[in-house]
Amino acid sequence: MMKNELLKKKVFVFDKDGTISLGNKPQDGAVELFQFLGELGKKVYVLTNNSSLTSLQHKKTLVEMGFPEEVFEVYSSTDATIEYLKTNNLDKRVFLMAVKQVEEEFIRNGINLVEDGPEVLVLAFDKEMTYEKFKKFCLYLLEDRMYIATHPDITCPTLEGPIPDVGSMIAAIKEATGRLPDMVIGKPNTIIMERLLSHAGVSREDVVIVGDRLETDMKLASSLGIVGVLISKHSNTYEGGRFFTFNRILDFLCYLKNGVNV
Ligand SMILES: [Mg+2]
Repeated sequence: MMKNELLKKKVFVFDKDGTISLGNKPQDGAVELFQFLGELGKKVYVLTNNSSLTSLQHKKTLVEMGFPEEVFEVYSSTDATIEYLKTNNLDKRVFLMAVKQVEEEFIRNGINLVEDGPEVLVLAFDKEMTYEKFKKFCLYLLEDRMYIATHPDITCPTLEGPIPDVGSMIAAIKEATGRLPDMVIGKPNTIIMERLLSHAGVSREDVVIVGDRLETDMKLASSLGIVGVLISKHSNTYEGGRFFTFNRILDFLCYLKNGVNV
């Protein structure tokens, strides 16, 4: 594929952590890239597995970092999980491990959260977790309740380094109960992207997925036949194949700019 063909795509879907930002810092060139895509009239989405914040909070933190508010929207595994529960009639008795703000988001969207007698257990990125809650979660799993995790990432990249994420919790729970989730909603599960496409009203041929992880972002792109752009220091730039690779998001911006005749 030629670079001009990449620019013909109408919708750019970016991963957040490790791709456009790290902690509360934008990656070099990421803000400029969003501005550039905005000027070209592209639709821009941030699709994140990170369920430790609501989409509104994700958007607010990105705007505070300098990302242009009017250019992009955020869709997260929190949103996709809520929609999955509602669509599949699993919203009646839910025990949720999540931070307070995400818990409130579930309630706002009509999910009935319970402490006792749950039918469904949902594991989100709970940075406020207590042993008491973790223990309850595991004991309910032994009673054979349905088990849903928001996403599979083992770690989340931050300025301090990679911190334990939901995938690490899944592993700990597996040790304690022998159980693995019945369903994992976030990337690379195509369900999260299909919901985003339907919200955006676009078809997959018009989309580019940009991310820093092969096992989530690029796997998602490749299962849906969507063009992928991998931002990773571990490979060199190349053109062709199933996805493009750049060391940094700044290199991707330069590449796109060189493809525009100005
Ligand atoms: Mg990432």
